[in-house]
Amino acid sequence: MYKIIDGKKLAAEMRVSIKSNVEEFKSKSGKDIGLAVVLVGDNPASQVYVRNKIKACEEVGIKSYAYYLSAETSQEELEDLLRGLAVDDNINGILVQLPLPKHLDAGRALKLIPDSKDVDGFSPNNIGKLCMNSESLVACTPNGVMKMLEAEHIDLKGKNAVVVGRSNIVGRPMAMLLLNADATVTICHSKTKNLKEQCLKADVLVAAIGKSKFIKADMIKDGAIVIDVGMNRDENGKLCGDVDFENLKEKCSYITPVPGGVGPMTITMLMYNTYIAATRS
Ligand code: NAP
Repeated sequence: MYKIIDGKKLAAEMRVSIKSNVEEFKSKSGKDIGLAVVLVGDNPASQVYVRNKIKACEEVGIKSYAYYLSAETSQEELEDLLRGLAVDDNINGILVQLPLPKHLDAGRALKLIPDSKDVDGFSPNNIGKLCMNSESLVACTPNGVMKMLEAEHIDLKGKNAVVVGRSNIVGRPMAMLLLNADATVTICHSKTKNLKEQCLKADVLVAAIGKSKFIKADMIKDGAIVIDVGMNRDENGKLCGDVDFENLKEKCSYITPVPGGVGPMTITMLMYNTYIAATRS
């Protein structure tokens, strides 16, 4: 019998506790907590993400500062804004919604976000600290996965964890977090040989591939814990994950659904990181 890990419920519970921590911080320090959200251009998906982030801020009592810049914004204009936010005491976290329009150099712009305000956990220093298992701001999606595993009291010590995907925002930090929790970690990617064989060794399998229903029932062992990070559209335009949920769930001990699994945790972890950044400022 498998158990569905309900990310929507956990995210809602976490927001209640973040809200009370934010309130306590504000009453003790007499200061607000501020998150700057920078959106360049009019990508509809990015607009939705930004709107949801601002809504989440309202929910937990974090003050959001939204900067909507036109698609024609120059690198210099974007960098000027980020330099200002970097030294603004009202701002505890800075987030630049990606992707940026093609003419802008995201890497160069993101370097202007101080590590202490890097609530996405993307800076080389924060990633380096994560690799060294020392205190850092951790990328929201993989950190959300860890909270889900923790909430289910899943002890990762000595478990074989297989992460499929090695992106900087999901796969790599995910692997590091699992390693820091004493799992034995394998990272797979598009050049991995015998992917099925690797996946069959997984006590915990994390799929962060970006391909609809890619992980099939014959790729996991009985009792595996399966975490689906994927957010894709199936042939009917319906939201689905990287895991063939319906055909695979019976083999799992735990599984996350899409929607309602990892997705709702990501923005919640952004709120968590912003609160943490404020407490360290
Ligand atoms: P990405 O940057 O495109 O990375 C995908 C990874 O999957 C790459 O490392 C790639 O390998 C690997 N891959 C692709 N095809 C493969 C194959 N046939 N076999 C094995 N590995 C393969 O994607 P991402 O940003 O990490 O996102 C992954 C998924 O998570 C997407 O569906 C995205 O929408 C979703 N996502 C969800 C959230 C959330 O909040 N729930 C947040 C972020 C992302 P190579 O490195 O060799 O190319």
